[in-house]
Amino acid sequence: MSKEQARIPYEAKDLSVLRLAPVAVEDRPKAALELLGEMLKYKRSLRLYLDVCTHCGACAEQCHSYLGTKDPYNMPVARVELVRRVYKKFFAPGRSVFRAWEGAKDLDQETIDQWYKYFHQCNQCRRCAVFCPKGIDTAEVTIAMRELLAHLGLVTKFHAGIVKNMEKTGNNMGTPLPAIKDGLEFLEEELKEETGLDIPIPMDVERAEVLFNPSSSDLFTNTDGLMAVAKIFYKAGVSWTLSSRIAETANFGLFFHEPTMREHSRRLVQAGKELGVKRIVAGECGHGWRTWRMFTDTINGPLPFPVVHLFEEVLEYLRTGRIQFDKSKNPEVVTYHDPCNYARGGDLIEQPRELLRACVENFVEMTPTKQYSFCCGGGSGILMDEAMDLRVALGQPKAECVRATGAEILCAPCAICKAQLPVVMDHHKVDVRVKGLSDLMGLALIL
Ligand code: SF4
Ligand code: SF4
Repeated sequence: MSKEQARIPYEAKDLSVLRLAPVAVEDRPKAALELLGEMLKYKRSLRLYLDVCTHCGACAEQCHSYLGTKDPYNMPVARVELVRRVYKKFFAPGRSVFRAWEGAKDLDQETIDQWYKYFHQCNQCRRCAVFCPKGIDTAEVTIAMRELLAHLGLVTKFHAGIVKNMEKTGNNMGTPLPAIKDGLEFLEEELKEETGLDIPIPMDVERAEVLFNPSSSDLFTNTDGLMAVAKIFYKAGVSWTLSSRIAETANFGLFFHEPTMREHSRRLVQAGKELGVKRIVAGECGHGWRTWRMFTDTINGPLPFPVVHLFEEVLEYLRTGRIQFDKSKNPEVVTYHDPCNYARGGDLIEQPRELLRACVENFVEMTPTKQYSFCCGGGSGILMDEAMDLRVALGQPKAECVRATGAEILCAPCAICKAQLPVVMDHHKVDVRVKGLSDLMGLALIL
């Protein structure tokens, strides 16, 4: 893949949904410098990451973005260096003495172009942080730099479109409520046909025990997963509901715009409060879960109810005998892809494995795995059709890991991974079917 192909040139023109106004091209360097200065005042981690790198290079070969594109600027150290050299010139302590020797650089339009390009080739997967002896988390630098770029008016069309959909409809796909309701009725009919039982997919039930917060793709494209969840709640005898106000756990604000992340999170919490549920159960979405686990209580708490992941909830049913699985229903060789935000940002490593071992006959681990696992290449919202050649390049290391397992089914329990991995596997000719963990549990559930 050429470096030019790797660029994502699809800047959004209308940023009104983000309450941002684009900065004129000629004014961007000055504005960027001011924004960076402001950010360094309140983001101590950013200053720390810019200060402590020893350029040891331990992160370089650990980034799938570099391994997949072979572009040296995609090494984590080089990606951050694009900011560090400006930091060295304008903000670092002692900068007047060593700045030329340290590669300090003025901030010009070319540098801003490089920021836009290379901070949109980082999946915010945090794998580099696992290997860095200083604990530098390049994902955090990417999040900060995308936020800075957004304030300059540089946002991908895809990201801005998702935020607009979310604001209008309460889901990232932009599906209006009547269409959602029709879809749920259709799924209930499918469940009746499959099981002979009246298994509901309820919406807006007040004082239900659980508010289930799925990824909106489960309502239309990964419907096996939603039907499986309905079966599990039915069998466990748990009252549950969806919310018509918001049916989206995938919080794209985390990737590039903190106010959007906060607002999405606030709407979810509000939906739970209005319905008076006892707890919220988050569906299959990596970064959505990271937002719930790491940020929601801090920014919109204290919460009047706990928020748990679907896998924690179902594991409780399994351990207490409220549900059982027949693993012979899933006889294929199954391997597991750790979504980055579960394994490196959401304390969700062993729970899905315990469920998998209970519901499939042949589970094989991938190498590397758990917190060392490679990203699918779609994380941080690099999931746009316009960037297909970049997506398949970023997914190449993962494709080789999956190929080596010889698995027939790749379990990938995250909405973004489920959208990205079939494309990647197909491109790299890995013969495997991609499924969510809910799908596999639904097949094995004894009703
Ligand atoms: S591993 Fe850490 S300290 Fe070493 S070059 Fe990479 S970011 Fe810098
Ligand atoms: S967060 Fe992931 S994609 Fe980004 S630099 Fe680190 S390893 Fe590469």
